[in-house]
Amino acid sequence: MSSSASSLKSTILGFPRMGSDRQLKKLVEGFWAGKITEDELADGSKKLRAEHWELQKSYGLTEVPTGDFSYYDHVLDAAYAVGIVPERYQALDKKNGLQAYFAMARGLQDKSIGVDVPSLEMKKWFDTNYHFMVPEIADNQQFSLHSTKTIDEFKEAKALGFSARPVVLGPVTLLTLSKPAKDSSSKPLDHLSRLIPVYFEVLSQLAAAGAEWVQIDEPVLALDLDASVFKPAFEQAYGEFAKIEGLKYLLTSYFDRLGDNLGWAAALPVDGIHLDLVRGGSDIDAALKLVPADKIVSAGLINGRNIWKANLDKQLAVLNKVISARSSAAPVWISSSCSLLHSPHSLKPEVGHLDEETLGWLSFAEEKIEEVVILAAAAIDRSKVEQQLKDNAAKVLSRQESERITRPAVQQRLSALDKAFYSRQAPFAERQHVQRASLKLPLFPTTTIGSFPQTAEVRKARAQFRKGALSASQYKEFLDVETRKCIEWQDEAGLDVLVHGEFERTDMVEFFGENLEGFVFTKKGWVQSYGSRCVKPPVIFGDVSRPKPMTVDVARFAQSCSPNKPVKGMLTGPVTILQWSFVRDDQPRSKTAGQIALAIRDEVVDLEAAGIKVIQVDEPAIREGLPLRKADYDAYLKWSVDVFRLATTGVKNETQIHSHFCYSDFNEIFTAIKGLDADVITIENSKSDLKLLGALEVHGYAAEIGPGLYDIHSPRVPSVEEMKARFAALQKYVPAENLWANPDCGLKTRGWAEVKEALVNLVAVARDARSKQ
Ligand code: GLN
Ligand code: ZN
Repeated sequence: MSSSASSLKSTILGFPRMGSDRQLKKLVEGFWAGKITEDELADGSKKLRAEHWELQKSYGLTEVPTGDFSYYDHVLDAAYAVGIVPERYQALDKKNGLQAYFAMARGLQDKSIGVDVPSLEMKKWFDTNYHFMVPEIADNQQFSLHSTKTIDEFKEAKALGFSARPVVLGPVTLLTLSKPAKDSSSKPLDHLSRLIPVYFEVLSQLAAAGAEWVQIDEPVLALDLDASVFKPAFEQAYGEFAKIEGLKYLLTSYFDRLGDNLGWAAALPVDGIHLDLVRGGSDIDAALKLVPADKIVSAGLINGRNIWKANLDKQLAVLNKVISARSSAAPVWISSSCSLLHSPHSLKPEVGHLDEETLGWLSFAEEKIEEVVILAAAAIDRSKVEQQLKDNAAKVLSRQESERITRPAVQQRLSALDKAFYSRQAPFAERQHVQRASLKLPLFPTTTIGSFPQTAEVRKARAQFRKGALSASQYKEFLDVETRKCIEWQDEAGLDVLVHGEFERTDMVEFFGENLEGFVFTKKGWVQSYGSRCVKPPVIFGDVSRPKPMTVDVARFAQSCSPNKPVKGMLTGPVTILQWSFVRDDQPRSKTAGQIALAIRDEVVDLEAAGIKVIQVDEPAIREGLPLRKADYDAYLKWSVDVFRLATTGVKNETQIHSHFCYSDFNEIFTAIKGLDADVITIENSKSDLKLLGALEVHGYAAEIGPGLYDIHSPRVPSVEEMKARFAALQKYVPAENLWANPDCGLKTRGWAEVKEALVNLVAVARDARSKQ
């Protein structure tokens, strides 16, 4: 053991904010609804922070992070704190700062005070499912210390007696994640010199309040950066910060390797460097050489992004490697790979809900803290935690050996596939020909993306069924009535390819997870998605298979309600199921996706056999699975295209395969989208300033396509005129015989009244276009 081990510090980079029972969600939503006052919101939040620090300390962490708490989003907090408040919110901000903060987060429409402002744009935080608010920087942007949240929360923890380390989102990351304000042309990073003094002030106040270490998060270091721009930017900022007497900085980055950035990042004038040794493990040898001997290394060994128990022996070996390479002058810290924001709060509520065995494989935020502490203790004196290490090894082994996890039949089926499983019988042009003859659709066919309004009535029936207040047959009867009404309405409205409405599904991933083997569902495994919204991702623990058909009955029934028009079968694709779940880490994601693809393939084939002529396999999340580093793009795109093809190519040429994409800018992956070889794609378009059209122009698209004609996120009914204009623009890029008319996405969050009006208008647009041909 190196002498530095005795001074190991154990900590985490951040803790989930919501609370064990999503208390923060309730507080914030209660405040929005006017049920609690601003003071009550502040008091409840303060209590929650104290509880979370206490919990971390109770496990024995030597230091707790502060400032990781947020009412809505930490990027918005960081922007707000330095006065990045776009002009449209400024008047409100002068009157009521909190109201302006929430207006930036979620928009505000309040006639009584004459305010009607939309929110800032929302984006995914790196490759996680957490969304942040995108700050806007104007050409004449002024920065000033606008909120003392960071300082206040540090003082709060200190007053309660915690050994605390404030967390600050670094200035380079803050600006890199920002976008120029409307009509501004300067790059956000060009404003760095004027932002640095405000950070300097915050850091000085933290020093004055007694902070010893500050954690500065700069996760952009995990991206491909142009060193000629970013190296000087970092040197300028951190060179300034180093002038503050008595304050030490831990520079963190996570979610991927530092890679090329490591050389210059390690040389920055900071006092410690955090390494994500879970996702950026390949940095280790270079980092141990390049990080100067007088800097501490924070070893991020416990995965903050998944829910599996760590293999402590394995991580201990990595930790020992780090410790023996470091000098005793600069001790090693042991930490989570990233903030635990992306893990559910605690396993405790799952006791009695999940079976013992599965429970033994999992670790949520609370348990991850325990793992950090055990690792730190083991590095100092293994004998003190021998029992815990043994227990951990037993659980890890039980997962490796469980017959519930590895099912030879599933594994063999996947490994036995040959090339034929990945392509349709004939190329698209030929398929298009036979599909036309068989489907007899008009020019500019109209369709929707799948779901229709999930009304209070639909949700109530589902809840009653789950409680047992409705029997299975009563519930089925209810669903049949809803489905029939929905089909009949679509037919009357003049839509051409109908959908059953998805009334039986709460969520497009949960529905399939519940019907497939290899998944479990937690009771309270919530993680924050954006603001007060949390999601409860299914857990894929083992080999995935389909015990029986999942959607065939519903599809057959729906088709029986529509004697003259095709009804689309509706499935979720393998990449999206993977992306929105917690995925097993004992085999490559591509392999798990392949297993899901085979299950979907069987469903597709069964739907075809049941007389369904059009089948849609949704892949809205295909873009968000893209790795952070460009060098890793190709491998991901290759397997994600492969699994989609595996799922969809088992059908005859006559059967029309659709896919649907949304939530992102698809230009970067357009080549991959072509590679999916779907017959028709529908794609979100109306909000992206017709960016999609640029991609169509650059890359061309030979198959059929329906770029969305209106945004479904708003209750606003699009007029015939505005959709006509959009449709006319599309016709310049897409040959008439390949163009579909449809909304941007599913309609489940909308009300029937607006849906009906909007779709009637959409049909009118298609009819008008047909009449002009
Ligand atoms: N078929 C799904 C629906 O309409 C697609 C949802 C999505 O793309 N997110 O709800
Ligand atoms: Zn969508």
